[in-house]
Amino acid sequence: MKREGKDVISLAPGEPDFATPERVARAGGLAIEEGRTKYSPNAGIADLREAIVAKLERENGITGLSPTDSVVVTNGAKQAIAETILAACSPGDEVVVPSPYWVSYPEMARLAGADPVVVRTRLEDNFLLTPEGLEGALTEKSRVLILCSPSNPTGAVYTKAQLAALARVACRHPRLLVISDEIYEHIYYGGEDPFPSSFASCGVPGAAERTVTVNGFSKSFAMTGWRVGYLAGPAPIAKAAAKVQSQFTSGASSLAQHAAVEALAMCEEAAASGGRCGDEVESMVAEFRRRRDYACGRLRAMGGAILPGGREPDGAFYLFPEVSEWMRGSGCETSDELCMRILREAGVATVPGSAFGQGDCLRLSYATSMGELERAFDKIEAWLRENAAGK
Ligand code: PMP
Repeated sequence: MKREGKDVISLAPGEPDFATPERVARAGGLAIEEGRTKYSPNAGIADLREAIVAKLERENGITGLSPTDSVVVTNGAKQAIAETILAACSPGDEVVVPSPYWVSYPEMARLAGADPVVVRTRLEDNFLLTPEGLEGALTEKSRVLILCSPSNPTGAVYTKAQLAALARVACRHPRLLVISDEIYEHIYYGGEDPFPSSFASCGVPGAAERTVTVNGFSKSFAMTGWRVGYLAGPAPIAKAAAKVQSQFTSGASSLAQHAAVEALAMCEEAAASGGRCGDEVESMVAEFRRRRDYACGRLRAMGGAILPGGREPDGAFYLFPEVSEWMRGSGCETSDELCMRILREAGVATVPGSAFGQGDCLRLSYATSMGELERAFDKIEAWLRENAAGK
């Protein structure tokens, strides 16, 4: 549609519309100039693995990890999740995936020959998994539970108490490994703590030993194109994940790893002076918060869209409203149809909730400028007035 000259605004992006912080980008450039262009060790350069262990202790309260045995640097967090699943699962195993889920989780389970077990969560529970929901999904075949906090697609964040309640259930199942996908952690607007709680440090005995924490640089540092992420967890799983990686791709880009070391150094320095993760990241997060508040205000004013838990999400850069009233009003039977109509007729791209296993929602990303957001909401509002009001 854009090529045809049509005015299309995208509320679909899954990446920050910000540049990589300058000193981080410069570190990548310097790595080229200095000729650090050879293969890196399969599981990552030592400086980065050490910085990751220090970061997980400093920001997440996760202790006892070893840079050589517990950490694997990967080509993005996506690879970290896929490798953990491939390392842990055999055909017939079950991977428990709360819905709405990030689109890749069920497919990764299938890739490993395992069966995704989708557990529905409730709009009024902010689409967070409850201990009862988890208990009801676990069987003797359950091998992995995947949690994502802050969540893509909802932006919801588990509190420490909520994680601990899930951990008490998980720890009764000796075979169960938990993948905690924390890729959006720095994009966080809630709570008194500077960072969202991590499953591995939720305080329940046995939780840390069964958790693979996944994180990366794509979202927090606006580094999606650099392709660097990591996993950290039990040594046998990390070792097996590294074996998978060594046959698939070898180590992550050496240049990106040097830039990533700088990103973590930036956070360490910020923490030493009472900050969170450096001025550039903090101002990006402040801008995301401003847009979140604006976008939620517009949705509320339009009516017919229900925010999960009835509130602004605490993290990431997505809204995931329930829009069945918009669907009814416009005669759309599915979120795919609604999404296509809003694209074709209003010129705004969104992602249908069905992609995330929740067919009566839409995902709206506010990783776009304030001006574009305003225009997008104007267009959606006008379209609703014409097509869905009072029907
Ligand atoms: N987990 C979630 C929930 C994501 O949204 C994404 C990116 N869309 C990833 C993992 C993967 O990030 P990357 O591979 O860029 O590090």
